[in-house]
Amino acid sequence: MSARAADQPSTSASSKDWMFCPISGYMLELDPVRGVAHCPMTGYSKSLQELSSIRIESTTNMEEYRRQFNLEPLVKDDSEMQETERVRATVDEKCPQCGHQGMEFYTMQLRSADEGQTVFYECPDCRYKYSTNT
Ligand SMILES: [Zn+2]
Repeated sequence: MSARAADQPSTSASSKDWMFCPISGYMLELDPVRGVAHCPMTGYSKSLQELSSIRIESTTNMEEYRRQFNLEPLVKDDSEMQETERVRATVDEKCPQCGHQGMEFYTMQLRSADEGQTVFYECPDCRYKYSTNT
């Protein structure tokens, strides 16, 4: 498995920036013996295991790809979804619990429209929540 990226260096090298040294911009040379891809100019090296997992995951598993490159997920996973599906904004309120400046807030219509809105505030720091009715 670790030698996977070395099997087809020509096809994988064409479109993937990770094949290039971030320092010199030279294409990394695959060295399956040492299990690394290294730059002949700077000596920069990456493990082939890491490279092969990026290549595979980038086409089949966006979650893994994002984690690898620290990208903000386009869609939150299910556990976060419940909390973030409502549109949030930040208001200049102080958290009553930890004193953090800036509370997230969102509104939610409860039951019928007649009963008005409830505004929920949540501290992004300590997750303290409270609500007020409008
Ligand atoms: Zn707080």
